[in-house]
Amino acid sequence: MLTLPFFDDDHRRLAERLRSFCTDTIDPGFDDDEVDPLAAGREAIRVCAAEGLLAHLAPGSRRGLREICLIREALAARSGLVDAVFAVQGLGSYPIRLAGSAALQERYLPSVASGETIAAFAVTEREAGSDLRGIRTTARAAGDAYVLDGSKTLISNAGIADHYTVLARTGPPDAATPRLSAFVVDADNPGLRVAGQIPLLAPHPIGDLEFNGCRVPADHRLGAEGDGLKIALTTLDRFRPSVGAAACGLAARALEEALTHVTRRSQFSEPLASFQATKLALADMQTELDAARLLVFRAAWLADTVDRRTTREASTAKLFATEAAQRIVDRAVQLHGGRGVVRGVVVERLYREVRALRLYEGTSEIQRLIIADQMLKAKD
Ligand SMILES: Cc1cc2nc3c(=O)[nH]c(=O)nc-3n(C[C@H](O)[C@H](O)[C@H](O)COP(=O)(O)OP(=O)(O)OC[C@H]3O[C@@H](n4cnc5c(N)ncnc54)[C@H](O)[C@@H]3O)c2cc1C
Repeated sequence: MLTLPFFDDDHRRLAERLRSFCTDTIDPGFDDDEVDPLAAGREAIRVCAAEGLLAHLAPGSRRGLREICLIREALAARSGLVDAVFAVQGLGSYPIRLAGSAALQERYLPSVASGETIAAFAVTEREAGSDLRGIRTTARAAGDAYVLDGSKTLISNAGIADHYTVLARTGPPDAATPRLSAFVVDADNPGLRVAGQIPLLAPHPIGDLEFNGCRVPADHRLGAEGDGLKIALTTLDRFRPSVGAAACGLAARALEEALTHVTRRSQFSEPLASFQATKLALADMQTELDAARLLVFRAAWLADTVDRRTTREASTAKLFATEAAQRIVDRAVQLHGGRGVVRGVVVERLYREVRALRLYEGTSEIQRLIIADQMLKAKD
């Protein structure tokens, strides 16, 4: 894969370095059932910072999306939690890079790149998941500040983040098409409360937020009033291929585990690998993984090299790679037989970790709608 023209020598060196870093340093204990996701999340940031990985999310860094995808693929193969925390550090800080004033960039981004601070992206609400028009959190202008009231749910890094990029209504609270704006809110703001952690299928620091008369300086707004939706969607365009990359990491690990298992395990006096049904399964898994990687790195290469939004390619990569990864991991569990669902077996962990990827940053159904809308728009 790395010999393809999507990559240059820097990418190849990074991939090589990631291989040894992930094997030597990313402890499988990150994803133990008993793990405290908050403590593990902080440790994940420390480990990624020490290896210089967070610098790939840095302001003005010439390194682009292909690096982020290579990193996510490698991290996810070892730990879903470490991968997710790394990704949210990018998702939460990219809007500042995209639309923050020079002063905001200077204040927030260097410490995100060094791991001294942790970022988060707070968009989803109980009544606003796929449909952001349902956002009810308001930001009322009050002199040299905005006052935020409302709540958010399913916010990754809630409880460990030092600051949140928050989407809120700046127009009339009951408008059918809301005017959304984006703000950087410090975690120690007295009007912001982490209202609890949410336990998931696989360990992940995630929780609810509440804003109660939360006063945010007006210069913490990103872009102009009403730019919030565009900022959020541009950020998602950028990060969706990387969700596909994480899916490839989980799938590649599942395939590796399956290959080892089918050569070691015998039934009917023969290794599982000798059965034609096993070979067909392995071939399908490899083919889907190859196709997923090609879509992911096509999207990343385009995002790095062309001067236009790459919405369709980003959604295509996320949709195909996450759906394919789910099928690949499921087949790996099947090839393991009963052992495949035993707690602590690698494919059992991958099975729990892969599920969320088809949901966050837009579900598979929403990716399909985006792809079709882009196709129809291009035809006009
Ligand atoms: C692990 C994880 C991490 C997350 N991290 C964050 C985060 O850091 N920040 C954040 O803001 N959010 C985060 N989320 C929330 C995530 O973005 C939402 O869960 C997602 O956008 C879906 O919204 P929803 O859960 O409200 O589902 P809903 O929007 O209620 O959707 C339910 C179902 O209906 C389908 N559906 C909805 N509309 C349509 C339609 N028009 N046509 C066809 N089908 C439709 C969906 O595809 C889905 O299958 C996270 C979620 C998870 C699971």
